[in-house]
Amino acid sequence: MRVPIIAGNWKMNTTVSEAVELVNEMRQGLDEIDNVDKVICPPFISLAAVRELIKGSSVKLGAQNIYFEEKGAYTGEIAPLMLAELCEYVIIGHSERRQYFNETGEIINRKVQAALKAGLKPILCIGERLEENEAGRTEEVISQQLKASTTRKYYQSGLIIAYEPVWAIGTGMAATGKQVNKTIGFIRQIIYQKCCTRVAQETRILYGGSVTADNIAEFISQPEIDGALVGGASLKADQFLSIVKQTSEIGGLKEGASSS
Ligand code: PEP
Repeated sequence: MRVPIIAGNWKMNTTVSEAVELVNEMRQGLDEIDNVDKVICPPFISLAAVRELIKGSSVKLGAQNIYFEEKGAYTGEIAPLMLAELCEYVIIGHSERRQYFNETGEIINRKVQAALKAGLKPILCIGERLEENEAGRTEEVISQQLKASTTRKYYQSGLIIAYEPVWAIGTGMAATGKQVNKTIGFIRQIIYQKCCTRVAQETRILYGGSVTADNIAEFISQPEIDGALVGGASLKADQFLSIVKQTSEIGGLKEGASSS
């Protein structure tokens, strides 16, 4: 059975005091919702403050990036064990990092490996660009991305995947539930081929791309979709709470069927 996840990616938004304010607005409401793993991912500088605020609640904390080296002369980078002391999850390979910071499949692979070694739960982002989608290359691109950045061991260690078509991120142009369900079914099939039925059925695969309180139901009601990685709408307490609440009500626990 797969417990749905709703993860809020705050990106490069909120100062520490704004992050504290936002957490204070949503913490209690989130804590009261069951059957969903609720994860918030503020900027690095707010992790320590947010960690204190959510202590004792069911809200989990995640980072938005990681570096793969353990320590040393890597000015400005954050090591896996530094994060492991503060949070549980880490987003890796977001399309904005691939696009603006030249992260390759190989770099992303090293980051996932380092995160798992430190005991973190990586949320690996994959997804095709608009021109790739229009050329009918979605499955090919996703296969390549997974091949470059994962091994069988990662799936066996609980890797979480976020399927985020790049054209849907921050554009207000979400994919449809049916499209996403099909693509996530395809991803599960790849995991099945790489590992086994059990691991494919247990791997949680999220959708990301312009998810709001108005469209979450369309995604969460699909059998393959195990939650969402939410950008813009995670910065509004009422929106995020509604997304999590609807996920709890509609989503429930899911049993994968596509690869059995
Ligand atoms: C994201 O940042 O991963 C994302 C999906 O953003 P948005 O929800 O704003 O499209």
